[in-house]
Amino acid sequence: MRLFLGGLVHESSSFSPLPTSVQSFREGVLIHRTEPQALQQVVAQPTLTGVIAAATRQGDTLLPGLYAEAQPSGPLSRADYETLRDELLADLRASLPVDAVLLALHGAMLADGYPDCEGDLLQRVREVVGPAVPVGALLDLHCNLSPAMLDSGAALVACKEYPHIDYAARGEELHAMLAAMVRGELAVKAHGRRVPMLGIFGTTLPPMSDFVSRLKASEALPGIVSVSALHGFPWADTPHTSAAVMVLAHDTPAGADAAGRLLDELAEAFYALREPASARRLPLDAALDEAVAAMAQAGAGRPVVLADTADNAGGGAAGDSTFVLRELLRRGVRDVALGMVWDPQAVAIATAAGVGARLPLRIGGKVGPMSGDPVDLNVEVLACRSDARQRSLTPGGSDPLGPAVAVRAQGMAIVLNSIRQQVFSPACFTELGIDPAAMRLVVVKSTQHFRSGFDAMASAVVYADSPGSLQANLHELPYQHLPRPVWPVD
Ligand SMILES: [Zn+2]
Repeated sequence: MRLFLGGLVHESSSFSPLPTSVQSFREGVLIHRTEPQALQQVVAQPTLTGVIAAATRQGDTLLPGLYAEAQPSGPLSRADYETLRDELLADLRASLPVDAVLLALHGAMLADGYPDCEGDLLQRVREVVGPAVPVGALLDLHCNLSPAMLDSGAALVACKEYPHIDYAARGEELHAMLAAMVRGELAVKAHGRRVPMLGIFGTTLPPMSDFVSRLKASEALPGIVSVSALHGFPWADTPHTSAAVMVLAHDTPAGADAAGRLLDELAEAFYALREPASARRLPLDAALDEAVAAMAQAGAGRPVVLADTADNAGGGAAGDSTFVLRELLRRGVRDVALGMVWDPQAVAIATAAGVGARLPLRIGGKVGPMSGDPVDLNVEVLACRSDARQRSLTPGGSDPLGPAVAVRAQGMAIVLNSIRQQVFSPACFTELGIDPAAMRLVVVKSTQHFRSGFDAMASAVVYADSPGSLQANLHELPYQHLPRPVWPVD
């Protein structure tokens, strides 16, 4: 089949101190259809791994369009969003006729005047291709599902795992669905149900791992094609911000009945998990008390891993907050690895000083009030790299850290880098010569994705709810549009 492929991927936080522009996508991924290597570059996107494998097996003709992805941050300006959207739509028009459209989206993208970018985009895609051409979208489970997305007639499939390790499997499923629709063997309709809660629900352990198994088992029910549980993105303030469950069912009265029953059951079951499935996030002081206690009894010399969840660049935080660093210094905790602090200026200064240099360095706390104050330390420069990378969640994928340094001060090894991103894997330490497994405490700026890379070495994992852009105390966020009531705000 002639398959149009594109992507516009951004998780926008209403409470991020960092705006998002076309330049943000240039610093991430921005592939234009007119570039000579556009097809090769789009095909190489880790999010599309499963789609490409399936398309290659089937011998599809792949028609690349705009593929744009930026690190999570604040909403886009109206003009920048419209520029990207209209380029993608123009690419689609230029590729007609197509048998199917498959887009990588996030599901929580915001722009000025557009509280629902994915709904807007999918509606416009539908206008371009008409009612008969199958459209599919691969979503992040931190999606705020909107009526416009459901009404677009798109086949919507979200990843089921958090950490998001299952994009390949979901991509294969979505491709198979679109191929069956193109052959005229399948017609699906998307149904959704709001689940009035917000939270962070990791799927590596029960009860969420059991719930994921239940979602998969439900896909074998008569009339049901695909089932997704959307956790929602709490830091996007929109009229449709919420957890939700979504079912793709056969587009028949019987399919609609089956979808309705299943949504009732799954919405109730998901809501019942809101407390048992929520990560236990402790205020900073209590988290450090627990981490220090766990360090005292850590087994076989393995480190305690402490997640600085409120400063996760992967949710739009700056990644340069100093609340945890300052408190560790005050407590005199030693044998600590901490990363990554996004601080290009400090990286440049330490790099200019060179490996082995000792110098006073002002670390972090630069972006805004939610970053805390900078910390001044007399450091020794341990390593400088310009080509270090860390493994991402998709097999074979990796992300550049940008110019990066490791510095040592007061028993702590601190990694600072220049391309803002969360900690996915130990490589962001080992690439700078620091062995996190040999430390007593490892602090990672990440909410949950770090677990795929650090669980094997961790004697214990502690989630700290430090101050910051992604603070978990949702009561304190200045929501204006969030539908109420919603747990745990009300
Ligand atoms: Zn996500």
